[in-house]
Amino acid sequence: MRLYEYEGKEIFKKCGIAVPQGILVRTGEEAQQAAIKIDKEVVIKSQILAGGRGKAGGIKIAKTAGDAGKIAQEMLGMELEGYKINGLLVEEKLDIADEMYMGVTVDDKNGGPIAIASVEGGVEIEEVAKRNPEKIASSLINPLYGMRGYEAVNLMRRIGLTGETLISTSRILCRLYNVFASYDARIAEINPLVVTNEGEVVAADSRCEIDDNSLFRHPEWQDSRIQRIDDLWEREGAKGGVSYVGLEGNIAVMANGAGLTMSLLDMIKDEGGRPACFLDTGGGLSKERMKNGVGLLLRKAKSDPGIKVILVMVRMMVSPPDAVAEGLIEAIKEIKVVIPIIVIARGRKPYQKRAQELLKDSEVNLYSNIGEGIREAIRIAREVRR
Ligand code: GDP
Ligand code: MN
Repeated sequence: MRLYEYEGKEIFKKCGIAVPQGILVRTGEEAQQAAIKIDKEVVIKSQILAGGRGKAGGIKIAKTAGDAGKIAQEMLGMELEGYKINGLLVEEKLDIADEMYMGVTVDDKNGGPIAIASVEGGVEIEEVAKRNPEKIASSLINPLYGMRGYEAVNLMRRIGLTGETLISTSRILCRLYNVFASYDARIAEINPLVVTNEGEVVAADSRCEIDDNSLFRHPEWQDSRIQRIDDLWEREGAKGGVSYVGLEGNIAVMANGAGLTMSLLDMIKDEGGRPACFLDTGGGLSKERMKNGVGLLLRKAKSDPGIKVILVMVRMMVSPPDAVAEGLIEAIKEIKVVIPIIVIARGRKPYQKRAQELLKDSEVNLYSNIGEGIREAIRIAREVRR
């Protein structure tokens, strides 16, 4: 999960890495107030979960508080790199003498953390790696010891730093490693790390990505993980505990288990059909998740006439048939059927029989043969007009 620049900088500050004075704002008025409070020229930085904002026009300088308000007003609501700008970081403008790069990430090849540094900052490190690989130095870190002072000094010396700057950047690198380790990051990056005209070393940007697998250790991020999913339907899915991925076709597909869902997509494709989505409710289905999944597809179908049919497959090994049937029926009752629903119910014999019994009076078309169910969905998708 990627953090916003302002969130990364809050962590930096906590961990002893200097950042510019800054205030997060959500309106033009707030931006003006922030600029008055900072009482200097300010930089206005769009808070989106993408880099390269400088080049894309997502970072502007305002000379006066009035300008800050106006610029902020224009930027808010704009779309940038596929993201809508909902927040801006208003920061004191730094007088930049020099821009550097430092980052800590996971090195897949060596299976451990690696620190990377360069005196070429403010540009993408991948670019530097291509054009001037000699300007980058890196150092593997033993996670049992953490980044030790002399390792940081050695690394920063290798990119040509000396004197005060060598000392202060090395200290920052050790702290950046601590951020990386203590927040379970996949990457913690400062680009650019700025040396100001006064000789201070300040993190002008932050890029931090937290490993999703460790979110349970960071409850403060867990809630917002869902909020920061961009796609409306993916977000709805995550709220309901199911995984949704939108596709191009006209058959909305749902199943219990990612492997089963994928296989179903392949089979539909092989028969000449076009799936409209991948929706996996996960195994051990509960009534709630069943209802959330079907409900999501029904609402999606209501808003999108491109979807012609819903195809649900449930495999009942551990998923109880009552939960499956009741979840389905409740979703239909609440949202109303707008298009045909095909349900392929398979599993242990008594489960399968029970599900058939419970669903026989509902509006769904019930199948137990997978091929038949799929072909019927494809036929409907071809013929039905909406
Ligand atoms: P990114 O493009 O999304 O990585 O955003 P950055 O925060 O790295 O900003 C891009 C560029 O804007 C930096 O490399 C700087 O050259 C410039 N910039 C950012 N903050 C300041 C600042 O306070 N003063 C000045 N003069 N330039 C800044
Ligand atoms: Mn940057």
